[in-house]
Amino acid sequence: MHSFNVCVLGAGPAGMMAAIRAAEITGSVALLDRNDSVGRKMLLTGNGRCNLTNSAPVDDFVLAFGSNGRFLRNAFGRFFSEDLLSFFQERGVTFRTERHGRVFPDGGSSGTILQALKDGLSHAGVEVMLNSDVRDIIRSDALLINLRDGRQISSMKLLIAAGGASYPQTGSTGDGFRLAGDLGHTIEPVGPGLVPLETREGFVKALMGLTLTSVAARYLVAGKWRKTAVGSMLFTHFGISGPMALDHSETIARQLGAGPVSMQIDMKPDTDRAELDVKLRNEFQRSGASLIKNLISHHIPRRMVEVVLGLSGIPEGTQCHQVTSEQRRTLITLFKSFPLTISGTRPMSEAMVTWGGVSLKEIDPRTMESRKVPGLYFCGEVLDLAATSGGYNLQAAFSTGYVAGESAASSLVDDRCSQESVGE
Ligand SMILES: Cc1cc2nc3c(=O)[nH]c(=O)nc-3n(C[C@H](O)[C@H](O)[C@H](O)COP(=O)(O)OP(=O)(O)OC[C@H]3O[C@@H](n4cnc5c(N)ncnc54)[C@H](O)[C@@H]3O)c2cc1C
Repeated sequence: MHSFNVCVLGAGPAGMMAAIRAAEITGSVALLDRNDSVGRKMLLTGNGRCNLTNSAPVDDFVLAFGSNGRFLRNAFGRFFSEDLLSFFQERGVTFRTERHGRVFPDGGSSGTILQALKDGLSHAGVEVMLNSDVRDIIRSDALLINLRDGRQISSMKLLIAAGGASYPQTGSTGDGFRLAGDLGHTIEPVGPGLVPLETREGFVKALMGLTLTSVAARYLVAGKWRKTAVGSMLFTHFGISGPMALDHSETIARQLGAGPVSMQIDMKPDTDRAELDVKLRNEFQRSGASLIKNLISHHIPRRMVEVVLGLSGIPEGTQCHQVTSEQRRTLITLFKSFPLTISGTRPMSEAMVTWGGVSLKEIDPRTMESRKVPGLYFCGEVLDLAATSGGYNLQAAFSTGYVAGESAASSLVDDRCSQESVGE
């Protein structure tokens, strides 16, 4: 049987950072993954460019994680975006900050980040054990890890960094939830986050591939309208995607249990109804015999014109001077409150993150250690943490990984010191 001081289960960003930090403090650190390479999901992030953090202040990070964000304050206090960037800069990576503070490595490849982590693992002397699929964990004096191929590993400290259940083809199949549950941890209900949304309306097919930039939306949750910020969205053959849809998908997904969710898209967020009414009335008067479909294509994307006219009931051949004030109001309603009915989300296999997971109440936020099983630690997406897009999820994985690795290794050193002083 192999024995280690610290064993990290899962070689995603959280597990790699945890193993590197632990190995800087103590020897005999192992990093296990079922895949034949490390960081498989990380390579896909940011469309292959890896949006690894954000230039926003810590308060914005906390907000991005919703009501559970406060749990991360300690970890961010210990290892935040500037520490993460320094970690990679020391390994030769340079960065660029793009719109909305999103930080990417120069050169446009997540491979740059992965290579720096691999260098870090080898430099710190971490024993990377690939093709090591963990079946179960047994509590005894140490923690015993049984692999599916029959091998057994014993470790003084064990860090579970097995990720969530989204994109299971990358190795993150939700095993972390099962293993934590078997060890007595509460698992908050999980679901797909940062996931495209399916709509009832069949007309989305005709709009497939169309991006609406600078639009806002509102959607009905428990009888109250929630507003999104101005952003972009994309029509797909099944519904909608793009940052605006993805960032609100968790709230919508949680609401879907109670039935379909009504959404309204505001294609003119900078103009109110009254202004739009005056503008359209003047334009219709000036344009006389021109067809209405030509005029409204100055206000909304050409591909939306047919759908909007269809919903309004105004015949396409209508001339501008024929438009009644009631028809004008109907058009304004469609520009400002274009209706969609969200009927579902795409499956876990298309979700970027998993919401829910190991209950934060049972984890010490200062160390990431389990309050139930001494010597057991958690980091990354296996925890009940999921943020909007923008680099927040990877930063949380790195920050919690750093703290878990440091705490586990330091506590070993502390244990040894106290044993030595008892022996004296
Ligand atoms: C397409 C896509 C794009 C994304 N883009 C971004 C982005 O640009 N910015 C951002 O911040 N976030 C992004 N994310 C989210 C981000 O990738 C995750 O939040 C992050 O990878 C979580 O890190 P982790 O280390 O906790 O888990 P993971 O990266 O999921 O790693 C977990 C590891 O554990 C291993 N494992 C699981 N079970 C076992 C087992 N039983 N035995 C052995 N090994 C096991 C898996 O093989 C896996 O390698 C994206 C996600 C996806 C899917």
